[in-house]
Parts: sequence; structure tokens; C-alpha cells
Amino acid sequence: MSLPLRRDDGTIDVLQGYRVQHSSARGPRKGGIRFHPTVDLDDVRALASLMTWKTSLVDVPFGGAKGGVAVDPASLSLREKEELIRRWTRTLVHVLGPHRDIPAPDMGTDAQTMAWLMDEFHRLEGFQPACVTGKPVELFGAPGREEATGRGVISTTVAALDRAGRDSRSSSLAVQGFGNVGRFASLCAVEAGMSVVAVSDVTGARFNRTGFGHDELAGAGTVQNLHSGVEIDPAGLLELDVDVLVPAALGGVITADNAPRVRAEFLVEAANQPLTAAADSYLSGQGVTIVPDILANAGGVVGSYFEWTQNIQEFRWPISRFRDELDSRLRSAFDDVAATADEHSCSLREASFILAVRRVVDAFMFRGQVV
Ligand code: NAD
Repeated sequence: MSLPLRRDDGTIDVLQGYRVQHSSARGPRKGGIRFHPTVDLDDVRALASLMTWKTSLVDVPFGGAKGGVAVDPASLSLREKEELIRRWTRTLVHVLGPHRDIPAPDMGTDAQTMAWLMDEFHRLEGFQPACVTGKPVELFGAPGREEATGRGVISTTVAALDRAGRDSRSSSLAVQGFGNVGRFASLCAVEAGMSVVAVSDVTGARFNRTGFGHDELAGAGTVQNLHSGVEIDPAGLLELDVDVLVPAALGGVITADNAPRVRAEFLVEAANQPLTAAADSYLSGQGVTIVPDILANAGGVVGSYFEWTQNIQEFRWPISRFRDELDSRLRSAFDDVAATADEHSCSLREASFILAVRRVVDAFMFRGQVV
């Protein structure tokens, strides 16, 4: 789409916007909207297909989609950002809707952006809060969704430890990244009785042999505000002698170069693609259990599903129900993947794709469409 945007100085920019609907075989298309300068059609297409496999893997009744605008979000004033998402929504209103295609936030967009999207949709189509997820809790959002991805990371970590006959309560974790995913993953890990011995973010890295306390992690905001333990080299965090390593910041941080120095026995991919293909094959060969991103960080889309169901039912769950259902959905997704891995003698990553693709194919077959 071409999206004209009136800038604050009165000039008009015409921005390039996208929505790719990859599959509706298993339900309405679902996927975020990314505002980033490098967004292009190939990028959005690839991300849309990943959403199809992710929603299938965690067995929620959605297909896959993704959207975006090629723009630097930092270059937008608040008014410009609001106008842009309203324009995006108006242009696509005929293909969006609670039972057609349901956007959510992604890089460069947030709960406020989704609130504007919902408001624009309402103006055109009437009251339907389930038309978008990731909304503010004050405006039909779901309590628990903000922490859902980090919580899901820990549900799958506990499941992986259980499968190996290990006691999660005596396991140590190092977490790279202390943003939405890393921070909630650290807090949930401590709540589950694990010992979070190292955390890092752009402000630095810290190591505490006895584990950081819950209150300290909850109140810190950034790693520079943690005071117990000692400062360490951020790159060294990936090489600590811990049971579980959780990269929760960027893609491509573990490569053929540093993989031989990774000492953790379990690697849980909270970030998207934190391992290069070479690192993945090296570490798998060394017997490291890798919980793949498509499974480990799927808590966000499960949380979106809970927000959508609550909006449709016009009923709000208490946060305890949200958390219990999230844990149990991710646990059963992990168990399905583990059973598939055992059946095919393959990695959890390969098993995740076998299972996800098979479910989409099955849906196509029963619908009677030509695959
Ligand atoms: P965020 O922006 O909230 O946090 C990113 C964190 O990484 C920040 O604490 C930042 O300081 C830290 N960081 C950046 N560079 C670093 C470095 N070199 N070393 C150590 N820390 C560094 O982002 P987020 O939402 O937490 O997402 C993190 C990852 O998880 C991304 O790969 C994202 O694609 C993926 N992910 C997020 C969600 C979600 O629901 N937020 C869902 C699925 C996947």
C-alpha cells in the first residue's frame, strides 16, 4: 500500500505499507505490525509464514499474517504515528476483523498504537475490540499479556528440564536481555524456584552466584540498577557455566565462533533466531538441548489468543486463570514437540516444524482445498 502521511511541518511523505496474509487454514490470520526502516515485502512474507507455523504449533485457532510500514519509528511524532496507523487501518479495513485478520504490536509499535487501530476500526465497522490484540489493559487488553512471552519461555524451560529428569528448582539460568521478554522470564524463573545468576542488557552485565532476588529484579528496570553480585563482561554471559542459557535480546548472538565456548546444557531461544545455523548444528552435535524460538517465545501469541477470546466473550479472566492456561498450553505444546522428536529421532526444532506443518496440511486436507 502507499500510505500518504502529513508530517508536522506540513510536507507529505508517501510511505510503503504491507499486510501479507499467509494462511487462514486453521483460523483468522494473526500477526503483528512492524514499523521499521528495513521492512519490505520479502521480510513481511517470511514473518507471515512463521506466524502460520507458530499458531499451529501452539494449537491456537489462528492462521498467519504480518504487516508493516517501511519507516523509522523514532522519526515519527506521536501525532504522525497515530495518523499513520489510522491510515494503515482505513486502507485495509475490508480485510481486517475479529474473524478475518487480527493485527498485534511488533517492533516499533505498542499498546497505544493498537488502541488507535481499534478506535479507527470501530469508527468504520462498529464496536469489535477483538479486531486487534496487544491493547492497553485499560482498553480491552488482557491482564497477563504483557508478561506472556517471558512466562512462556520459563514454562518451556521447566518442561525441557523435566523431560531430561532434571529438577528445575536446582537449576541456574543466565539471561541475555532485560527487556519485555528477558525481564519477565527472569522474574518467572525466580518464581518457579530457579536461580537467575546472570543478566545483561545494553547497560551491562551482572553475575550473582547465589541468584538475584525477585524484588531486586522486579524493581531494577535496567541491569545497571542491580547492585548485588559483580559486574561481568556482557559477551562472557553466554559462556557461563550455568544449566540454562536464555538469549532474550537479539538475533545471531551465538555463532560458529563463540558456540564452542557455550557451557550450558540447555539453550532456550527466547529471542528470534539467536543462533546461526552453524551454531545450532555445532551445539546440537554436542548434545545441548535447544528449545527453538518458534516454541520458546510462543507465549505472546497464546496471550493474544486469550485476549481475543475474552474480547469475544466480553468477559475478563482474573490474571491467575490467564497464567494457568498459558502454562498448560505451552506445556502441552512442548510435550507434543518432544513426542514428535522421539518419534522421528530429531531435534526439537525439526519436530516443531514437522508438527506445525502437518497440522496446517491436515486442515487443508479436511477443508478439501488443493494444497
Ligand atoms: P525489548 O526491546 O523490550 O528488549 C530487548 C533487550 O535486549 C533490552 O533489555 C536491551 O537492553 C537488550 N539488549 C540489546 N542489545 C543487547 C546486547 N548486545 N547484549 C545484551 N542485551 C542487549 O525487546 P523484547 O520484546 O524483550 O524482545 C526481545 C527478543 O524477543 C527479540 O528478538 C524479539 O524479536 C523476541 N520476541 C519478543 C516477543 C515479545 O512478545 N516481546 C515475542 C516473540 C519474540
